[in-house]
Amino acid sequence: MIESKLPQVGTTIFTVMSKMASDYGAINLSQGFPGFDCDPHLVALVNKYMKTGHNQYAPMSGVPVFREILAEKTSSVYGVQYDPEEEVTIVSGATEALYAAVTAVVRPGDEVILLEPNYDSYAPAVELNGGMPIYVSLNLPDFSIDWNKVEEAITERTKAIMVNTPHNPGGYVWTKADLDNLAALIQDEEIFVISDEVYEHIVFDGNQHHSLMTHPVLKARTFVCGSFGKTYHVTGWKIGYCLAPKELTREFRKVHQFITFSSATPLQYALAEYLKEPAHYLDLPKFYQIKRDFFCAGLQSTPFKFTPAQGSFFQTVGYGHLSDESDFDLAVRMTQQLGVACIPVSVFYKEKTDHKLIRFCFAKEEDELEQALERLRRLKFE
Ligand code: PMP
Ligand code: GLN
Repeated sequence: MIESKLPQVGTTIFTVMSKMASDYGAINLSQGFPGFDCDPHLVALVNKYMKTGHNQYAPMSGVPVFREILAEKTSSVYGVQYDPEEEVTIVSGATEALYAAVTAVVRPGDEVILLEPNYDSYAPAVELNGGMPIYVSLNLPDFSIDWNKVEEAITERTKAIMVNTPHNPGGYVWTKADLDNLAALIQDEEIFVISDEVYEHIVFDGNQHHSLMTHPVLKARTFVCGSFGKTYHVTGWKIGYCLAPKELTREFRKVHQFITFSSATPLQYALAEYLKEPAHYLDLPKFYQIKRDFFCAGLQSTPFKFTPAQGSFFQTVGYGHLSDESDFDLAVRMTQQLGVACIPVSVFYKEKTDHKLIRFCFAKEEDELEQALERLRRLKFE
């Protein structure tokens, strides 16, 4: 008999809810993916590179022109330099970047601080490496960080902290003060930072994404993990990257080369060419703000309580003022009876803590959002 290395883990909630949405013909605002296609020009570029023979293994660390343009883009957006040769690695999605970074640093018995609710791949990555996740809860309702609690969680066994800004599912966007607070806590410790910044270009209300790389103390010890899936509406392509100082990248690549070795070649060439046009990512906040505003305006006439997300393409809403129903039961009921699927936020907590919150993905066309809102207005609680 096989003894599970992840006995607590079942099928991810994203698979469960997307399947339920499809089984019941519900509008799927659960799993986070755009409900519209990417730019046809991007598809044409992939096609071009496939037709011109770019179909064999890419270099292990990524196609050089891609790493170069990504380093240039990072410099122009954040004013931070990474050497494309030794500090930029292309991988198969942020999920791989996170896993490889954790694997590069975590040894059995090490503690890794996670700020919950957190994305579901973090804890299994830590546990598969023999590490122990140490959970610190984010403040509600805004999902900001209680730095005193983080300080209390640090021990001599702390090897890393995993952070996520803009945050999924809460939409919180780190401030400069958050960067300073983290830096102050770890600057004299040997603690690495694994920073999940997949929603870096989805920030609202004129706010700015403060990448951890912009703080020199943090940059020196941080693996910045990103993904083109969110930025270019191509979540199915699974192309991501890791930016990290040379010594960290060296270890990161040792792991990456035995997870996937390299990522799809024509996709890398196509994305490299597409990256040359900054408008493709600079216009994204405006593009998604229209959707967030539309969805939040519609939510006003539903029973839910919420504060508009600061970033990401998720809106989390509360219903605790109306009912004791568990968030999971509500998500199932809404999918099956109302025809709108969402994610119960308790799944992002280690103990499945139920704060009566559910998450909607608003990366959808307006008519789909409107249809969902119409159904949500009919939601009744016992
Ligand atoms: N981190 C967060 C916070 C996410 O929401 C996601 C998924 N969309 C990922 C990582 C995974 O990204 P990818 O699809 O590039 O692996
Ligand atoms: N990141 C997406 C979400 O939070 C889902 C990704 C996945 O399905 N693994 O919904």
